[in-house]
Amino acid sequence: MPELRKDPVIGRWVIIATDRAKRPDQFSSSVVEKEELAAGEKCPFCEGNESLTPPEIYALRKPGGPPNGPGWNVRVIPSISPLLHIEGNLDRHGHGMYDLMNARGAHEIIIETPQHLVEGQLSKEQIISSINVILSRIQDLERDPGIKYVLMFKNYGKAAGGGHIKHARTQIIGTPVNLKRVKEELAGTKTYYDYKERCIFCDILKQEMAAQKRVIADSKYFIAIAPFASRFPFETWILPKEHSCDFYKIDRDRIPDFVELSRLVFGKTRKAIGDFPFNFVLHTAPFRRDIAKRDYWETIDYDYHWHFEILPILTRVAGFEWGSGFYINPLPPEDACKYVKEAQI
Ligand SMILES: [Zn+2]
Ligand SMILES: [Zn+2]
Ligand SMILES: [Zn+2]
Repeated sequence: MPELRKDPVIGRWVIIATDRAKRPDQFSSSVVEKEELAAGEKCPFCEGNESLTPPEIYALRKPGGPPNGPGWNVRVIPSISPLLHIEGNLDRHGHGMYDLMNARGAHEIIIETPQHLVEGQLSKEQIISSINVILSRIQDLERDPGIKYVLMFKNYGKAAGGGHIKHARTQIIGTPVNLKRVKEELAGTKTYYDYKERCIFCDILKQEMAAQKRVIADSKYFIAIAPFASRFPFETWILPKEHSCDFYKIDRDRIPDFVELSRLVFGKTRKAIGDFPFNFVLHTAPFRRDIAKRDYWETIDYDYHWHFEILPILTRVAGFEWGSGFYINPLPPEDACKYVKEAQI
């Protein structure tokens, strides 16, 4: 019998359709397509092709090297097709009952390697460098009073919106408004905190550690779980074990531990189902400089807990999901966890 499960944070229901349960090899039809560059097409993210991108915002390069040329290790550029623009002002206004504003914000691409490597081919050191650059970018964007939130994400594979060029990269988008998804989580975590005076994510971690049914792996400072109400097969969350609401305030000494655990989780999942399309998103607390909202933020340091969500794109979202806001997941997270845990790399 299928099971309805409720996500404890935001109250979203998921149907775990156990009667449609698949084995991991049945997901391999969703593997990532081979990269095919058109004849004469060059990868704009490779070292040596800097002139194919807008001028860089930042680059980690050897001292003395001029910008927008070779010799870098990690490079940050404005998006080639930005969703939001850093210039201009918001001009928030009403049109009758409708609200609108200019799409002001930031949209940056962090190119994680000068070589043409894809996700999964980067060394631990290279990923650590990229994360350090991303943290500096988030800290820089915090200084822009027009930006309320920075969303960091990855799209990998065409099915996940990753485009046809697979050069490893991360996107960050600084938005002038707070995000609906994050607001839902903030509301859920605050309600829980008001009632229990505890962080709901810390409670989830405690329960999962005790039960050991959905813990994929853990390290000294981080843990990867298959969430109880997973929306997608092989959905995984990575969280710090110690309570913290702001990713960008992470102790930089802990980044190697985080990278090791993430690489292990991705490596084992790939071993279980092959190279898979995915979205990877960071959920962290919004910037809190709005004095008027101080009461609203009063407990956020205690009630919210940052985390990454790995969302494999292996199933299609269709009419039922769009109409209901529910998700149908054909693989119980306990099974997904077992398959990934058992994969040997
Ligand atoms: Zn490339
Ligand atoms: Zn917590
Ligand atoms: Zn989240």
